[in-house]
Amino acid sequence: MGMQSNLPNIPTTTSNTSEVKQAVTKATTDVASEMQPEKTVVDKLPPKPDYPRYRVRPEHPIILAALDPNECEGYEKKKHVEEELEYQRQRIQNLQERLYAEHQRSLLIVLQAMDTGGKDGTIKHVFGGLNPQGCQVWSFKKPSEDESSHDFLWRYHQRAPQRGMISIFNRSHYEDVLVVRVKELVPKEVWQERYHLINEFEHMLTLNNIRVIKFFLHISKDEQKRRLESRLEDPTKHWKFSSNDIKERKYWDDYQTAFEDAINNCSTAYAPWYVVPANKKWYRNLVVARTIADTLESMNPQFPPAEVGLESIVID
Ligand code: ATP
Ligand code: MG
Repeated sequence: MGMQSNLPNIPTTTSNTSEVKQAVTKATTDVASEMQPEKTVVDKLPPKPDYPRYRVRPEHPIILAALDPNECEGYEKKKHVEEELEYQRQRIQNLQERLYAEHQRSLLIVLQAMDTGGKDGTIKHVFGGLNPQGCQVWSFKKPSEDESSHDFLWRYHQRAPQRGMISIFNRSHYEDVLVVRVKELVPKEVWQERYHLINEFEHMLTLNNIRVIKFFLHISKDEQKRRLESRLEDPTKHWKFSSNDIKERKYWDDYQTAFEDAINNCSTAYAPWYVVPANKKWYRNLVVARTIADTLESMNPQFPPAEVGLESIVID
């Protein structure tokens, strides 16, 4: 697929609404094909081109309980994936440089998980080698008074990436249909509408040259127990322990349902959700890294053309 550096090409001054609609549909479809990299990216081995993708297809709703958080594609140990992880990180670094130089499009990566699900670890291990100049991480906590006096998307929209940038949302606008729903912070009529509003929001970002990709790091309840225990046992992990996580754990099933609905309602062709088996941290890192590398490669960012006449310049 060829690169379209100025996606989307939507007529702005036309009275013909069907033409506008057609352009929007085409732009959306073009992006949707980029967001399914297996259609365009022919990755070099290893490990194999048909590795599992874990993308949630809009027409195939998932049941979280049916997806195995221990899945690891036949790998057994961290050391078996180390080389490939490094290779994927390298791909991301090279493509990030191009995306930054191109200065046309950007990538928004959403990370969501249950507590201890590994958002922080993923950020550290997958994005550790990125050029800090082209990458920003935003962590969203309970909204401030100022933030909650605006519409629910306001604070997220402000953090959407500028052209050329990769932004990582550590928690995101999805909290507004997760914790907000589970803890009944707003009435059902309010959160229920938000799936649609989130899809519209992400569609708007997409049409503004921001690619949106979303990862749910899927761990089991047992694994959460182990991770919480190890935070209690290891003094160097005490700072990570929050007794609030114990309170939230009681709502495990409600959170799983809320995640399932969020993922099923909001995995669109243009802004897909991936459910990543995440009990094994090394496998989780590998899946996230290669999914991002493939998506960036599918976007195919290009260095901008050089100034004319460079070849005749002599530096004295
Ligand atoms: P860590 O993984 O290091 O614990 P964290 O993201 O869990 O980081 P915390 O300060 O422990 O950070 O928790 C942030 C809290 O903010 C979470 O409990 C989350 O549910 C809550 N939060 C995030 N967004 C919203 C929102 N829109 N409305 C209400 N609560 C929110
Ligand atoms: Mg926490």
